[in-house]
Amino acid sequence: MFNSLTERLSGAMQGLRGKGRLTEDSIRDALREVRVALLEADVALPVVKDFIAQVRMRALGQEVTKSLTPGQALVKIVNDELIRVMGEQNESLDLNAAAPVVVMLAGLQGSGKTTTTAKLAKHLAEAHGKKVMVVSADVYRPAAIAQLETLAGQVGAIFQPSDVSQSPVDIASGALAEARRQFADVLLVDTAGRLHVDAELMDEAKAIAAAVNPHEILFVVDSMTGQDAANTARAFDEALALTGVVLTKTDGDARGGAALSVRQVTGKPIKFIGAGEKPDALQPFYPDRIASRILG
Ligand code: GDP
Repeated sequence: MFNSLTERLSGAMQGLRGKGRLTEDSIRDALREVRVALLEADVALPVVKDFIAQVRMRALGQEVTKSLTPGQALVKIVNDELIRVMGEQNESLDLNAAAPVVVMLAGLQGSGKTTTTAKLAKHLAEAHGKKVMVVSADVYRPAAIAQLETLAGQVGAIFQPSDVSQSPVDIASGALAEARRQFADVLLVDTAGRLHVDAELMDEAKAIAAAVNPHEILFVVDSMTGQDAANTARAFDEALALTGVVLTKTDGDARGGAALSVRQVTGKPIKFIGAGEKPDALQPFYPDRIASRILG
């Protein structure tokens, strides 16, 4: 996902790495290039401004000018700043609650919710030894329920059937009762997608959340949407009090703006990234690893 950002940033950093001395002019030139690189990667403007201000403040301080290798020192500052905007640490799913722990997934249509539900089911079973049940509360697209059933079969999760004649709240509540009956550790609730942030479906998602009290509410978002990913996440957060974000399609040619903007714009951590269509293509999000990848 970060190819073009990596190319531009390493271009900006290249000239600095080996430099014995850095003047204010060379720092300013480098910062200008970093700014252009971030804007071209579709990072949200307030995030870019804050990023540059932080780097400038540290770069003009003693850390760089007094360093034996000022170029390296500046690269390190940019690296640290990338990690900071992405939230420093990996934040994993919080499963610390009485079973069945309910995890709800929300997001726009086509963002990858259903695929991510299956990926998470597999991850929770394999990495955490959990017994996972999945259910679809998407009563607008019968195909969505069938798709989840197929995927659940592939990843070995318990599939709780639902039907378009039911209300989404009843589906979710019924699934929770069934998850209790079957002693499932985790219940993943896939919700209806929407084409845009739409009040009616937002109310529906709120009603589902009120009925089953999810311990985690994850916003699933397509990284191709760049800084819009962060703006949409903010709108969902206002309605649903999200606990985290899953950034999908990072295997495509998205430019990185979503990864760099979500945390700062919403205050919510990216917990996982999706990097492919297959159920095993889900990775925990590690800001430091991503920063290293970006700086090449
Ligand atoms: P939903 O409408 O939000 O439930 O979205 P789906 O789960 O149906 O996904 C929409 C499309 O995106 C499907 O074709 C998925 O295979 C694809 N998809 C989902 N996640 C990823 C990902 O991380 N990488 C790639 N390349 N495709 C993905």
